[in-house]
Amino acid sequence: MKPIAKRLFSVAFVFVTVWAGQAAAAPTTQDVVNGVSQASYSGYLDNHLYTHLGENRMFSNSGGSDRHDAARDNILSLLSGFGLSAELQSGTHGGYAYSNVVATLPGTKTPEAVYVIGAHYDASNSSDPGTGAGETPGAPGADDNASGVAAVLEAARVMSGYEFESTIVFAAFDREEQGLHGSYGWVDSNPAAQVAGMISADMIAYNPAGEHHGKAWIYYAQDNSAITSALAASMDSYADIEATVAQMGRSDHQPFDEAGFDACLLIEHGWSENPHYHKWSDSVDTQGYIDYAYATQMTQGLVGYLSDAAVVTPEPGTMSLLLAGGLCMLARRRRRRA
Ligand SMILES: [Zn+2]
Repeated sequence: MKPIAKRLFSVAFVFVTVWAGQAAAAPTTQDVVNGVSQASYSGYLDNHLYTHLGENRMFSNSGGSDRHDAARDNILSLLSGFGLSAELQSGTHGGYAYSNVVATLPGTKTPEAVYVIGAHYDASNSSDPGTGAGETPGAPGADDNASGVAAVLEAARVMSGYEFESTIVFAAFDREEQGLHGSYGWVDSNPAAQVAGMISADMIAYNPAGEHHGKAWIYYAQDNSAITSALAASMDSYADIEATVAQMGRSDHQPFDEAGFDACLLIEHGWSENPHYHKWSDSVDTQGYIDYAYATQMTQGLVGYLSDAAVVTPEPGTMSLLLAGGLCMLARRRRRRA
């Protein structure tokens, strides 16, 4: 070959080597989903969110109950521990003070496009008949909604190990039970945010035998948008859960939907028949109640949706390694010829 042709061939060889290597090493959404662990999910639900009998995560006007604030602090330290930039986002909405926990995984290519996965960490026992003597006090909210918070934590743990083209925000919202104050507060205090998709994970661990088993609802608050069918497809392909789309507000997707963003709620199919809803017995200690395997599947579907939508990419570190590898191979070939 002529020197110039030889040089062109060398350059082409490097590009092909790097391209092929990158294709082989590029993580897929299935790789990301495979990182979701039931042991890890269960650990968050059982040990970090005060979901045992007698514990109380209700917001109190006298400054928050001890378990409410302790859960908030645990969520903040867990999210920070994943290497994410995490902070308390506090404010007032309609005169109600709130304190959200928000962590951000910045996008590498289109950081202005933001996907939000959120779950409220406050709880309620409004279905309990008063607080008379002899009744068990507390609002451990294991299903409503520590189950969703644990999914946000597990998604953050797994996804913080990858890079995505778009930004992902992991949010634990406050005071959902008293009027969606935390999520309204987030929307109000981020007026320039370009939310490409928002999901509220709220009650995802009750999976009774019978007609509701292995299924989920995906609700839009007022406008049905592309996110509902996309999430349903992810629930099917990454989690083997059959999800049905319908309309209902009443959770943290509502403020996002009202603001014109694609938003929806993921919730267990049997929520309306949940015997422990808003009761002291919504606890991980209630026998036969929490289905950890099902909640892990729900988390897998959420992570699958987010990874596809925000687009998982090879990390720059991996790219440089591959490039270096290609150059080394080229140098060896040249030396052999000489
Ligand atoms: Zn809830």
